[in-house]
Amino acid sequence: MSVKCSKCEKSAVYLRRYTNERLCVSCLLECTLDRVRRTINKYDMLKRHDRIAVAISGGKDSAALLDILVRIEDAYSESEILPFTIDEGIMGYRDEALKAAKKLVGLHGLDLHIWSFNELFGKTLDEIVKNRSDTSFGACSYCGVFRRKAMNDAAIALDADVVATGHIMDDEAQTILMNIMRGDTRRITRGNRFRANPVDGFIPRIKPLMGISQRDVIAYTHYMHLPYHDVPCPYAEEAYRSEVRIFLNKMEYRHPGTFLAILSSGDVISKSLLTRPSDSTFRKCDKCGSPTPRNVCKACSLLEEL
Ligand code: SF4
Ligand code: ZN
Ligand code: ZN
Repeated sequence: MSVKCSKCEKSAVYLRRYTNERLCVSCLLECTLDRVRRTINKYDMLKRHDRIAVAISGGKDSAALLDILVRIEDAYSESEILPFTIDEGIMGYRDEALKAAKKLVGLHGLDLHIWSFNELFGKTLDEIVKNRSDTSFGACSYCGVFRRKAMNDAAIALDADVVATGHIMDDEAQTILMNIMRGDTRRITRGNRFRANPVDGFIPRIKPLMGISQRDVIAYTHYMHLPYHDVPCPYAEEAYRSEVRIFLNKMEYRHPGTFLAILSSGDVISKSLLTRPSDSTFRKCDKCGSPTPRNVCKACSLLEEL
């Protein structure tokens, strides 16, 4: 016998543990859109006339992000959705993910803008990793620095007002906990400031899916039939985050709502710290003009070393 949806008469297909709701396919769609709308409003993430650059990785989180934003923004004819992908140049991984990204974007009748490390920095990530002299600086560290810059450059080239990324509730809870465990509480304030304190030269980044869990995303992409590529990156190495992920997943399973509680703790910490003056001021990088607290930005100093 099928179990009834908590919101209507149809059969439930998904149990959302942290709200203890059983949802049918149409209520899963409506509840997901509703949660994302509430997150967007709570943090003032979007404005009516925004040009929204949407970072597409080819994976399921950004597949859900694009689909959800297209549905939500359908109500606002003045806004524009601009999907883009950063191609780091990781053989056998990003090239496969790119195929899924193109298919996804095509389904929504949009164009995919692609920026590659090779075009922007003259090297693929594979080449950077192969030729680096300092092997203690891992692939993900190079990737993170260059991707941040590439995303900002892409957003500027697209004349975007904001960049939306596919970070979900699980990522956010892990990041908050990791920052606390490393004693870096000030970083938490950066996590949810979004458009509040714009820095000249930085296109603000928003995370509309931060109220949606990994399980929600899996159910959503499955029932909305979204194409995605779900093979881990060959360089994936963040052992510390993996440990935190395994621990938090166990806690969330035993005590549904743990992720949400960590997110609201992050909000409280962030608010109390924001009443203090900021300790970093930004200037323009001497080499590329990107905003940075140093004389030369991290990407340019890494490029010099390489
Ligand atoms: Fe880049 Fe590391 Fe992510 Fe691979 S796992 S895409 S190297 S940050
Ligand atoms: Zn229903
Ligand atoms: Zn620079």
